Amino acid sequence: MEMLRNYRNLVAKVDELCRRIAGEFGEHLACRAGCDGCCRHISLFRVEGIALAAAVNELPGEKAGLIRERARAASSEGPCPLLEDGLCILYAARPIICRTHGFPILTTQGNEQLVDFCPMNFRNMSSLPGNAVIDLDRLNTALISVDALFIADFPNNRILRHDRLTVAEALLLGVCRT
Ligand code: SF4
Repeated sequence: MEMLRNYRNLVAKVDELCRRIAGEFGEHLACRAGCDGCCRHISLFRVEGIALAAAVNELPGEKAGLIRERARAASSEGPCPLLEDGLCILYAARPIICRTHGFPILTTQGNEQLVDFCPMNFRNMSSLPGNAVIDLDRLNTALISVDALFIADFPNNRILRHDRLTVAEALLLGVCRT
């Protein structure tokens, strides 16, 4: 648990940011339980994968086994293996990208800055104020640093063969003592 402290601090900051945006712009957000359009093709940093695996390990054996079964059966083109009846089975432990689902995301591509968000949201606004937007490049820079620090100290890092992993791969990482 201690090894994931930096990651959990970052999660808390992202949650705070999302709460603030939802508080100010809630009337323009259509996101709700049961809407799962974003729950596909999620790619995780290693630290996020280990955090997810650790959350599975904390579950009772039968439930953890069922989740791993779903992960084994998952297809790369299908929905996230944690999605069940439109809801996330591990919602409290969901990765950072999932916490930002639906919110306007700012990215830089070359010299261009782009804002992307769920078309169901902010439908009646002709322009978006800056305080409604999450700077994804800044968030990823923080996540890359947290990931590098974590991996440098993670004793079992040979189980992580790639820099990024899918949710299914994370759920199948096995026992992680963090
Ligand atoms: S981890 Fe949960 S919130 Fe994230 S994509 Fe999967 S089901 Fe959706």
